[in-house]
Amino acid sequence: MHANTLNFSAGPGALPASVLAKTREAIVALPETGLSVLGMSHRSDWFLAILDEAERNIRDLLGLSERYAVTFLQGGSSLLFATVPMNFATPAFAPPEYVISGYWSARASAEAGRVSGHRIVWDGQRTGFRELPVLDRLDVDARAAYLHYVSNETIEGLQFSAPTGDLPVPLIADMSSDFLSKPLEVERFGMIYAHAQKNLGPTGVTVALFDREMLERIPSGMPHILDFRTQIAHGSNYNTPPVFAIYVLTLITRWLRDDIGGLTQMQYINEAKAARLYDLFDEMGDVVTVHARRPWRSRMNVAFTFGDARLDRAFLDLAETRGMSGLEGHRSLRGLRASLYNAVTPEAVEALCETVSEFALQRA
Ligand code: PMP
Repeated sequence: MHANTLNFSAGPGALPASVLAKTREAIVALPETGLSVLGMSHRSDWFLAILDEAERNIRDLLGLSERYAVTFLQGGSSLLFATVPMNFATPAFAPPEYVISGYWSARASAEAGRVSGHRIVWDGQRTGFRELPVLDRLDVDARAAYLHYVSNETIEGLQFSAPTGDLPVPLIADMSSDFLSKPLEVERFGMIYAHAQKNLGPTGVTVALFDREMLERIPSGMPHILDFRTQIAHGSNYNTPPVFAIYVLTLITRWLRDDIGGLTQMQYINEAKAARLYDLFDEMGDVVTVHARRPWRSRMNVAFTFGDARLDRAFLDLAETRGMSGLEGHRSLRGLRASLYNAVTPEAVEALCETVSEFALQRA
């Protein structure tokens, strides 16, 4: 298997081989224009058609109604940690509520604290970020501007199931590490955002979906570039957008539709991949510890350890000899982490499982 296939990085990470092949061709010369995608004007008809298609494909994959605006932003999810409260935590409402369920939601929460003030409605720090709350059972102030959470904690490997009950305030989710990995009832959300470098393509673009009603809450006088209405009004082309990233994202949406067959099929594949690895770990008993408690285990990021830094290093060394990469845990949690994003194939997960078994046998 090619090294790109065995990339378990938490992002940027694996991309489908067919998309990489098409991208390589596009960097030299796009079949449609004869020019490199890296030199294509953001005002060209070609790029306007790509922007249109990217939006249409996302709408089709999610079954998204016109109630929602789709936009492509820059600055990563971290910029949105600041601009979400700037746009929506206005004095007309009580402070927004934040769930702290891991490293990234803590970062989002801290930023809201600096921008607008906020209330922490749930904090998993005390229990070491191994479990998650039920969103619609949280004690949320009905006057709050919104409730913010991170749908998949990339570092700790915790994943919320989709909310099913009604919430008294708009729900805003950072879905950076599980957007388009499964179907989604967007109608339950006031806003969703996700950077591309996990499941959607290369880094440089962040997709944001807005319930248009939310846009009426945005105060006037914001800097244009930070006011969400600006990119929506300009079709995500107010200033120079990341043409290359949006092009590859469009290829990914085509791949999801044509090669995978849509998000229900993608979910099926992703769940089978994660089950294969977790089942193996469960069979191994005490040899390996998964960070997340069982009900909240992520299908995207599996954080685990063989018990100490030396054993984890020995596993990484073995995995490297098998051509695998990206398996080190995040510097904040250490240990190991296998990211099983959309483009990680079942065959790659099989190869990983074989290496895990081989490692356990060597140590037995
Ligand atoms: N949210 C989540 C869930 C993430 O995993 C990350 C980064 N891996 C971020 C936010 C930060 O994103 P960015 O680097 O695009 O600012």
